[in-house]
Amino acid sequence: MSEKRDYYQVLGVSRQADASELKRAYRKLALELHPDRNPGDKESEARFKEASEAYQVLADQEKRALYDRYGHEGPRGGGFGGGFGSVNDIFSAFSDIFGDMFGGGFAGGGAGRGSDIETQVHLTLAEVASGATKEVKVQRRAVCQDCAGSGAAHGTSREACPQCRGRGQVVHAQGFLRISTACPLCRGDGSVVRKPCPACSGSGLRVGEESLQISVPKGVEDGSTLRLAGRGEGVSGGGRPGNLYVHIRVEDDPRFERDGADLHTEVAVSFPQVALGTTVKSQSLEGEVDVALAPGTQPGATVVLHGQGLPHLQERGRGDLIVHIKLVVPPSLSREQEEALRTFAAAGGEKVEPPSEKRGIFGRRKKN
Ligand SMILES: [Zn+2]
Ligand SMILES: [Zn+2]
Repeated sequence: MSEKRDYYQVLGVSRQADASELKRAYRKLALELHPDRNPGDKESEARFKEASEAYQVLADQEKRALYDRYGHEGPRGGGFGGGFGSVNDIFSAFSDIFGDMFGGGFAGGGAGRGSDIETQVHLTLAEVASGATKEVKVQRRAVCQDCAGSGAAHGTSREACPQCRGRGQVVHAQGFLRISTACPLCRGDGSVVRKPCPACSGSGLRVGEESLQISVPKGVEDGSTLRLAGRGEGVSGGGRPGNLYVHIRVEDDPRFERDGADLHTEVAVSFPQVALGTTVKSQSLEGEVDVALAPGTQPGATVVLHGQGLPHLQERGRGDLIVHIKLVVPPSLSREQEEALRTFAAAGGEKVEPPSEKRGIFGRRKKN
């Protein structure tokens, strides 16, 4: 972000707004912009972050006073550290406010849940038939190995937060009420890092590329999604990582048309083949398969080869291969073929003559 917007403007409230007004404005924005509701929308995510940061500052009386006096640089000086590392930090910081808002995702534990990650794998039809193990690479935040997620440098550990004395909550007086909220310094953790782990800068998380072997079940459909629980973004403070969603893309196969577990294919045949009956070859998943045509098979007829389709998803057995018979008329005939055909027609009492040019069916032909 190049230019930071004014926090009051971000939340759409006046500079005199009280705590409940701030909270209302923030909840409204957060509901609207939450990444779970706008998956993949970078702009919403950025605005969500911005709103969360604005709220975290303005909801804290001390920070708000600093901000009012010194602007954006004010609250940051107050031992707040590196500011916001990620959206997840914000999730965990505001778990107490959200609690009930997003399907219980933030409930319990205090720490938030990591974001979900999405990726894709491409399969051929042959891989759908056999089932496949595919490698996917994902960039994700995972627990830092150097500090085991504590964020504290080697040989040190987290210390009780000085602002809330380790309770994780601070109490604000608001008229008659005393309201306790998550401590802004430790974000409700109750502990802070004095000497940050150099590998993760104290966040307890590191971004890295992971390579995962994903076993895709037989018979999977194009557009279906596999869910790998806990393989999404990690989150600091002991929260659950998000999920990894793998979208399945099945590549088109020019030989077949897929309908669930059934496959459709087409075989070109000649008039003598269907009229007399014969055996023709058809494409199948395993290569070629014989298709028996009874004498008098009609164009467009289908022959069903049971169990030659794709495996059923999570069931035994396979679908069918449905072979569509396509009659192909030769675009030209040899003299010999033509004579034979005229004889054939005459034997059936048919008189077949090419259309006369004078009748103009083909229009006027240019003479060379
Ligand atoms: Zn670390
Ligand atoms: Zn604290």
